[in-house]
Amino acid sequence: MDNNKKKLSLLVCGGAGYIGSHMSRMLSDHGHEVTVFDNLSTGYSKALKWGDFIQGDLRNPDDLEKALSSKKFDAVFHFSGLIVVSDSVKHPFQYYDNNVTGTLNLLQAMRNNGVDKFVFSSSAAVYGDPIMDLITENHPLAPLNPYGRTKLYTEEILEDYATAYDFNSVSFRYFNAAGAHPDALIGEAHRPETHLIPNILLSSIDQGRKLKIYGDDYPTPDGTCVRDYIHIQDLCEAHLAAIEFLETSQGAHSFNLGNGNGFSVLDVIKAAGDVIGRKIPYEFEPKRDGDSPRLVADSSKAHKLLNWKPRYGDLREIIETAYRWHKNPAF
Ligand code: UDP
Repeated sequence: MDNNKKKLSLLVCGGAGYIGSHMSRMLSDHGHEVTVFDNLSTGYSKALKWGDFIQGDLRNPDDLEKALSSKKFDAVFHFSGLIVVSDSVKHPFQYYDNNVTGTLNLLQAMRNNGVDKFVFSSSAAVYGDPIMDLITENHPLAPLNPYGRTKLYTEEILEDYATAYDFNSVSFRYFNAAGAHPDALIGEAHRPETHLIPNILLSSIDQGRKLKIYGDDYPTPDGTCVRDYIHIQDLCEAHLAAIEFLETSQGAHSFNLGNGNGFSVLDVIKAAGDVIGRKIPYEFEPKRDGDSPRLVADSSKAHKLLNWKPRYGDLREIIETAYRWHKNPAF
């Protein structure tokens, strides 16, 4: 650890999941004391290698009170969200209950225990159908699905908290998080897997698993959806910068996190084929509910205010790290 930097005590909600485990590891590598709070519903105990672990559920205020009163935390990171857009369309109660009510419970436990710094995983899904090629944080907020609305409502709650209480937060609007830690000890593992890059790699490893492309007539150059893929380590670096930012900045702040480059589903399949060294077969399926045709970030606000710049600018390099993990996943 940099000796000039203070060692912090940090609670990582959702630290057994994909982003939370990479974050716990990075915080611990920077010399901070990490405590993970997770219900292990979608996360993995094998991903809990960094810090203490408290098993609990956001929907249970007693679990949160126990966790928040167990130590004096300097800040809380919140990655415990349900994240599957199509599920949110089918099961809105679960999404509002976990992502909004659960977050309110967490904020309440933080206030009860005098913790006033919060870093929240929001999403590009808050923007809905884009009216700009590169989306800035000022783009209208019009989510297309309950998942995106849970993120938007939480951001609004955080603004109200900043106005009413001495409560400071950063919300990161993630574009498409991808890749794995370069040493491949941890990586992305959702069951069932719904994300594009893991599905491409899994279909190349297990030939019986057919890759599906959802939709071929979006208003994009090749008819498939365009996304902005950002490496998991870059995403975590921005969260590290957020803790420093919150030392001196009051209020509720939102930042986009993306690379600023748009790749269609077909572009990603081609890039993955180059990494793997063979063509990847696919078939077209109907569109999924709630998918936006194009989501590409303008992240200049994070560049300026957080002094953050992604290191993984090349999609093939991002896919390579994911492939290393998927060839031999530990969980
Ligand atoms: N997608 C696809 N096949 C898959 C998974 C995803 O065609 O097996 C498409 C999906 O429709 C979207 C893009 O790939 O256009 C990225 O989807 P993902 O679930 O990875 O992230 P999202 O953008 O939905 O957060």
